[in-house]
Amino acid sequence: MELFAEQALLPDGWHRNVRINVSSDGCFESIIPDARMSASSERKAIVVPSQLSLHSHAFQRGMAGLAESRQNPADTFWTWRRLMYQLAHRISPEQMQDIASYLYMEMLTAGYTQVAEFHYLHHAPGGATYGQVAEMSLRVGEAAQSVGIGLTLLPTLYERGGFDGRPLQEAQERFATTPELIGRIISETRSAWGEMPLLSVGLGLHSLRAVDLRTTSDLLSAQTGSVHIHVAEQQKEVEECVASVGARPVEYLLAQTDVDERWCLVHATHLSASEVAAMARSGAVAGLCPITEANLGDGLFPLVPYVNDGGRFGIGSDSNVLISPWEELRTLEYGQRLFTQTRCAALPVATLGSTGGWLYRQVLDGGRQACGLESWGLLAGARADLCVLDEDLLPLPYLQDDAVLDAAIFGSRQPPVKDVLCGGQWRVRDGRHVNHDAVTAAFRRTVRTLLDL
Ligand SMILES: [Zn+2]
Repeated sequence: MELFAEQALLPDGWHRNVRINVSSDGCFESIIPDARMSASSERKAIVVPSQLSLHSHAFQRGMAGLAESRQNPADTFWTWRRLMYQLAHRISPEQMQDIASYLYMEMLTAGYTQVAEFHYLHHAPGGATYGQVAEMSLRVGEAAQSVGIGLTLLPTLYERGGFDGRPLQEAQERFATTPELIGRIISETRSAWGEMPLLSVGLGLHSLRAVDLRTTSDLLSAQTGSVHIHVAEQQKEVEECVASVGARPVEYLLAQTDVDERWCLVHATHLSASEVAAMARSGAVAGLCPITEANLGDGLFPLVPYVNDGGRFGIGSDSNVLISPWEELRTLEYGQRLFTQTRCAALPVATLGSTGGWLYRQVLDGGRQACGLESWGLLAGARADLCVLDEDLLPLPYLQDDAVLDAAIFGSRQPPVKDVLCGGQWRVRDGRHVNHDAVTAAFRRTVRTLLDL
């Protein structure tokens, strides 16, 4: 396959007249700027690297918009969690696959071609293991494979109900795992997927409240892929952590474990100044989920000091209440502007230029690192993933270079995405997934039954 882009964002910046060749193994064979168009080329106006959602709970897509009515005067994250648990309690493996397929199709249509699925729903209702212990994980892989998105599955350890070691509640029994069981799920999944080019496996630790770090050293040392953990998302969690171990969550995590580039600290919303600096120094990625964090009222991540300390970050769709990498970046930047009462707030102090362009590139690299991928973007040898933008959905015509990304992030009402290539195959054409109708019909049937609509 050969494409010809009038303008394309390459690792060293924007170029004109770029010839893009895709080899039969689904990777880029060559990317040549200032080239001539050949007779076999398909012409595209604007081509950018596709994005990565570094944090997702696929099943939560089944409750998008259902948790927005106030149930008591002090509605919080914790009341949202009760509703989420009701859904987690009921969902079957088939329903999981239908919902994940639909969600991943939405991700592709919005411009994501890789997702890290933070997966802790392992067992049957009641807590019994399935005949195949990795059943739910394999269903998530089936979903990704069927719609054609890259997946980093993170089988997630969930051991206890709180910092004090209290047992899991009934609603959490489908999550209950030991390090040994997670090790088994990881190895079953790895051997089932073999060399499938879109599917890979890392490790999730649910949170410091649900995992005792002292139990994880064997699991961590056996693990070569990425390691993700929810941390410091809620003030209550910070207070409980301080009361229990005498340190704040990120402070404690960094002291107890060798946190490095393999790690993704999801949310990390509530940080002291010294935690900001230490986390940036660790080389870990901050997994920011701006739409979900706003939706749940988590608080604002201290992005300004963090980027000035050289911290890395990426974006995740998390609760999947709304799928758009463009809106994640807009929400991220607007939160910082409102908080700091400045404009172009996310840029490090000495950096001038496009906010959208800078943010887009930062989260490409943070997402790549957090998903455990070696290369990403428009370069020879990388998996052939890209997004063709739809000029008609941008707010102005004739845009060039980073002005395209600024307009796409801050001025477009919907993801300005026309075509999406993942693993060398077109998954989205003219704004529609190639298998849209069948995936949508299955999702609608499943949601009707699951939610009793
Ligand atoms: Zn999460």
